[in-house]
Amino acid sequence: MSDHLCARCARHQKTCCQTREIYATPGDVQRIVDFTGRTDFYAYRVPANPEYLDQDDDPAWRDNVFRSDKSRRTLNHQSNGDCTFLGPAGCVLPLDVRPLVCRIYPFDYTEEGIADELADGCPTHLMMPGETLLGCLDMTQLAAESWRRQIYAEIRDEPSHSERDPERCPTSPSFERY
Ligand code: SF4
Repeated sequence: MSDHLCARCARHQKTCCQTREIYATPGDVQRIVDFTGRTDFYAYRVPANPEYLDQDDDPAWRDNVFRSDKSRRTLNHQSNGDCTFLGPAGCVLPLDVRPLVCRIYPFDYTEEGIADELADGCPTHLMMPGETLLGCLDMTQLAAESWRRQIYAEIRDEPSHSERDPERCPTSPSFERY
């Protein structure tokens, strides 16, 4: 049996756990705090790619995820770029603790539903003949749809716009909710 596509990816190139900015919902933060006891794993950042701020096709995301200074809560990286939850054998968080954004990838989505096309970041050239991307990743659209609904419920738990004023919620892991 061939190994997981993420393991193959990690042998050949930088992975999404090393290169991506990962937004964490309030629910993600609470689950990770409960599991790890850590509170030092996130901060508020403006997207490195300004195109990410163009969310007009997904008003719920645009209006709930970003603070007034365009920053949003993202996972910290180590000095080498690795996510702080990336271990030698992959993510150290169990699936039900992992941020929803990580769980859903490479499905693309808005509040309206899951897009027909998968995101194009996975190294499909490392797949064996006859393999499908979702098969290689042990993923199903049913699970992704459930996580998509959960993520849109959880972004509505973000503090209100006034409470999200960066002066009141500075770029720091000590966000008062937690
Ligand atoms: S939380 Fe886990 S899956 Fe998500 S970026 Fe970090 S190491 Fe990767």
